[in-house]
Amino acid sequence: MPESAKIGGNLLTWYDAQARVLPWRVPPNSEQRAEPYHVWLSEIMLQQTTVAAVKPYFEAFTRRWPDVAALAAARDEDVLAAWAGLGYYARARNLLKCARVVAQSGFPTDEAGLLALPGIGPYTAAAIAAIAYGVPAVVMDGNIERVMARLFDEREALPAVKPKLKARAAGLTPAKRAGDHAQALMDLGATICIPKAPRCERCPLQAHCVSFKAGVAAELPKRLPKKPKPTRQGVAYFARRADGHVLLETRPPKGLLGGMLGLVGSDWTEETPVFDPPFAAQWQRHTKDITHVFTHFNLNLTLYVAEIKAANPRAGSFMPAPAPSDLPSIMRKAYEAGFLICDIDCGAKLGQYGKNRGPKSG
Ligand code: SF4
Repeated sequence: MPESAKIGGNLLTWYDAQARVLPWRVPPNSEQRAEPYHVWLSEIMLQQTTVAAVKPYFEAFTRRWPDVAALAAARDEDVLAAWAGLGYYARARNLLKCARVVAQSGFPTDEAGLLALPGIGPYTAAAIAAIAYGVPAVVMDGNIERVMARLFDEREALPAVKPKLKARAAGLTPAKRAGDHAQALMDLGATICIPKAPRCERCPLQAHCVSFKAGVAAELPKRLPKKPKPTRQGVAYFARRADGHVLLETRPPKGLLGGMLGLVGSDWTEETPVFDPPFAAQWQRHTKDITHVFTHFNLNLTLYVAEIKAANPRAGSFMPAPAPSDLPSIMRKAYEAGFLICDIDCGAKLGQYGKNRGPKSG
């Protein structure tokens, strides 16, 4: 038997016994295939996020929108609010665009057709084709790259080594049970062949693993040194009116946090931003900047807070205070800090926040 068939066989035997039970999956070696809607939704949610973080979102989405037609018919703001906390809001907007295409024409069953849909990249296209349709597509993500680099002791650094890793993975992909094979590699990368200290003693591929034999598994894959993340600055204004309404704006549809609710404020730039207050008031500067780590930069947000009787803002509008969980993470931090300052420093209306925030939604 060729080495690749032995590796594939060991992997599937292990998966049959050890597969993670996840709400979007069907059991291993099952007649039934996973729903394309479930595979697609989970894979979009899982980009850059952990399985533990995604599970409650996946369950809430599929309870509320049980199929792609229901999601396609949803209001944008409901889906964006339900997505809040998962980050990367461009994905939520693409999710809706994609749902509306698929509701008309169905999910394509091949990688090329899937790749043409909004928000679906090579990884997600291959994952849906393999898991939902059994196509022997080569599914590559960071976990699977790590397994390939170690299994075949590929020592060239990422990202240059990617094509070699994909060729290695293609050599292992079986014609049958391609979905289980892909999910087995995902599980192996997530639970056994983990980044810093691989659990080689429990690995079903140990007998075939070249880097394990060479004693260098934990050093792979090699990476070029990372550039340090830049830090951007921004200014945001939190204002609460005497009737409990707060100043908020819907961010422009394109760009970071596009279409989401947020505080009025400046762009985020590496230079110190200039942004005049939305109206004249006794603005208090929060003593500590609100900080947040995005994928490509760190953000320091200077927060100004005011409590006023009435005002005519030049940006945003006063609206009933939403639940903090309806806001994206950075805005939620600034919003909660604003409420706290109003309640503590401005003195009046203790308990207003609790009264207005509404139920938590995620
Ligand atoms: Fe990864 Fe170790 Fe298994 Fe090799 S033996 S694939 S390094 S866990």
